[in-house]
Amino acid sequence: MRVLVTGGAGYIGATAVDILIAQGYEVSVFDDCSTGHADNVASGVTFVQGSLLNRSEIAEALKGCDAVMHFAGKSLVGESVEKPELYWSVNVGGTRNLLDEMRAAKISKLIFSSSAATYGEPEVLPILETASNRPTNAYGATKLAVDAMITDEARGHGLSAASLRYFNVAGAHKSTRGWLRERHDPETHLIPNVLRSSTSKTVKIFGTDWPTKDGTCIRDYVHVVDLIDAHIKALNSLGSAGHEIFNLGSGGGYSVREVIAAATQATGSQIPFIDSPRRAGDPAVLIADISKAKRILGWQPTRNLEVMVSDTLASFE
Ligand code: UDP
Repeated sequence: MRVLVTGGAGYIGATAVDILIAQGYEVSVFDDCSTGHADNVASGVTFVQGSLLNRSEIAEALKGCDAVMHFAGKSLVGESVEKPELYWSVNVGGTRNLLDEMRAAKISKLIFSSSAATYGEPEVLPILETASNRPTNAYGATKLAVDAMITDEARGHGLSAASLRYFNVAGAHKSTRGWLRERHDPETHLIPNVLRSSTSKTVKIFGTDWPTKDGTCIRDYVHVVDLIDAHIKALNSLGSAGHEIFNLGSGGGYSVREVIAAATQATGSQIPFIDSPRRAGDPAVLIADISKAKRILGWQPTRNLEVMVSDTLASFE
């Protein structure tokens, strides 16, 4: 089976490419390299550098493919608030183009990178896939809109699809070509920022007065390798037309202070940090209910926070 990985030059997409190849899949990559890195693309894969806004480039990338894993898109919450038009254009318009070209090429299997940002501030924890969707930023709104578009595509045109709603993806993957890790500029994510903290560039704890056990936010972290395992299981579960949504997290949560403690343990030295005001748009606690992915996909994440931190640390060396 040949899988087109859109966003295959990015952190999560490149990890998917490497693991798919290791498992015997043929892979094509489609990426505009706006945030991804061409040097992430494994040699030996078919690579089309192109944009989701260009239908002929998508058509070119889809040639010979049987299924699509769709990671490409804009993914920064803050940027989405400042430039909503970019997010609606690339995430929603770009995915519309992809679905149209998939239909033209008679490709009917799709795995989509959705997000827990579709839920917004949760009313009930842990969060089930049936929870209400009230995204608090354009990023979450566009992921939710794409999920709705995919549902209609499945109903109207026989697409067989799964949307995977990521909680906090972390860790790194040791590929045959070295570590694949987050390389964002600027980096906003907690684990890389904590591990890179120094007295001249001290990591900020965004809020210490949250209604949690130690006053800092709690998030559900999932290792990128476990995450890709779920994608491959989801791909293999696709049958007749339909659209299923699955949460991907660990089912548990860690506070910001607990992440700093794990990093202190991993590095063997004190991590400098500074208590700071809350960051706009952060909910206090996000924890996934992952029972649906466990039950239907037979998925079980196995890499805990210590592994996510130690792999990220190793990937910096
Ligand atoms: N966070 C923090 N300092 C940072 C980056 C993040 O205190 O430099 C907090 C953030 O407020 C949130 C958690 O760490 O509670 C995870 O944030 P991240 O940006 O990694 O992921 P998000 O939950 O926003 O997707």
